[in-house]
Amino acid sequence: MRKFFVVYLLTIVTVFFSCGQSPEKVKPVKNVIVMISDGTSTGVISAARWYKMYNKMGDNLNIDPYICGTVSTFCSNAPIGDSAPTMSCYMTGVPSRSGNVAIYPVADPDNDIVPLDPAMAYQPLATLLEAARILQNKSTGLVVTCEFPHATPADCASHYNDRGNYKNIASQMAYNDLDVMFGGGNSIITDDMKAYFENSGTTLLQDDATAFRNFNGNGKIWAIFDRMDVPYDLDRDPAKTPSLEEMTRKAIEQLSKNKNGFFLMVEGSKVDWAAHDNDAVACITEFIAFDNAFGAALEFARKNGETAIIVLSDHGNSGFTIGRTGCGGSTTSLAGLFDAVSQYKKTAPGMEDILNTTQPDDVKEVFAKYTNIELKDEELQSLVQARNYRIRDNSQPSNGQALKTNIIKIMNSRTCFGFTSGSHTGEEVFLAAYHPKGHRPTGFVTNIQINEYMYKAMGLNTPLPELSGKLFAKHTETLAGLDYKIDTTGDFPTLTVTKGSNTLTVPAFSSVASVNGKPIALGSVTVYIDKNDTFYLPADILKKTGL
Ligand SMILES: [Zn+2]
Repeated sequence: MRKFFVVYLLTIVTVFFSCGQSPEKVKPVKNVIVMISDGTSTGVISAARWYKMYNKMGDNLNIDPYICGTVSTFCSNAPIGDSAPTMSCYMTGVPSRSGNVAIYPVADPDNDIVPLDPAMAYQPLATLLEAARILQNKSTGLVVTCEFPHATPADCASHYNDRGNYKNIASQMAYNDLDVMFGGGNSIITDDMKAYFENSGTTLLQDDATAFRNFNGNGKIWAIFDRMDVPYDLDRDPAKTPSLEEMTRKAIEQLSKNKNGFFLMVEGSKVDWAAHDNDAVACITEFIAFDNAFGAALEFARKNGETAIIVLSDHGNSGFTIGRTGCGGSTTSLAGLFDAVSQYKKTAPGMEDILNTTQPDDVKEVFAKYTNIELKDEELQSLVQARNYRIRDNSQPSNGQALKTNIIKIMNSRTCFGFTSGSHTGEEVFLAAYHPKGHRPTGFVTNIQINEYMYKAMGLNTPLPELSGKLFAKHTETLAGLDYKIDTTGDFPTLTVTKGSNTLTVPAFSSVASVNGKPIALGSVTVYIDKNDTFYLPADILKKTGL
């Protein structure tokens, strides 16, 4: 195992085609906040700034004075980044493959951009968040607008080869002892997770904005809103769902009670979703909500004097541009570019929800009310005949098209924004940072260097590969010579070790084992990967459990 970690260490210090830098000297700070605007091409940021100016919301974004470079965010085997592998790299230092959550990627020798050790495949990799909690006794928190086990937050506090397996990921996130988890995803919380929250003194608030606002306890808190993701900021009902800025303020208020400091990740999760949809007003307003959250974090950091903030995206998305073929050249005015979008009072999914409860005869008037768009006859038909328009007149044939797609088509026909695709793009993304001593990464840097910078800023001195070896040792090595078996028939796979009259039981995706039925906290999560039939456990599990 030691040999593998040496190779892994070599891998992470290899830096490619990079001319920017993570400064040699980074004064360690007490608190580190990383803020991810997911799937945000630079065009979105420019549009958000002009939108603010046009709507007299101020001439600048909060990030403007802190923009200091660009980041290349590649996968281990592909130049275009993806949420799961990119955040994995920010958190662990190792680029990964699409779908991977904080694990070492399977080698793809024909396409690998970084040298990989095939023997390390699937190895869970310790994250900066885990390092902060386990090595530094800092508080840890995640604030998102997606459902909590979605790729970016998952990368901070869980490990798996498939980002879509919410069951295995959500359980690890609960058992990873986060001090703060704010975001969406009530439908994913299980009875087992609730029982663990009870036992570990974690307050769980579900769809309770009032209790969230009043909470001032010293314990851990999960405040989860909505079944899955929370609504877009433009569609949000403030009485029901706090903004990303409010959640960020609350998270900092809670986390800063720890005298050892904290590590916080804040994600503007749905800028990416809006870009996938080519929904310009959602891209712009979600980014402004994210930028407001940065403003809140900055306010704390400047006062506190011991906090660094790093702000960036994880990949481009959809090639958003101001101006497109046939529209919006250099003679188009600010109003010509930004008036129409400024009239949109709902995102496309928000408009879809409204139309789904609007009778066909009223669609024209209601659409105008929220968008200031006078629908042409054929546009009106494209909406009321959409296949999933819920109160479509069933005596009329459907046009086979999706309602949201047609809403977006109509909204985009009145603006001059361009989209080259509905998927991720490979140009580098923006980088902004604040450090009380001005020690920031600058120029063109890679996702690997972002991890190096945060590692330094946190003042860690145990290399992450070493921590990975301690937290996630293969059961075949840890339990060599012992009598054990793996049972994969239950809800979660279980490892049972028998020694004399004692039985150690270790469930996967948990942090609580038991000896002869008596629970023992392991201090970190266990991972089981079926691809190689391997349990990854604390290297000192026998000592810890007294077996
Ligand atoms: Zn992403």
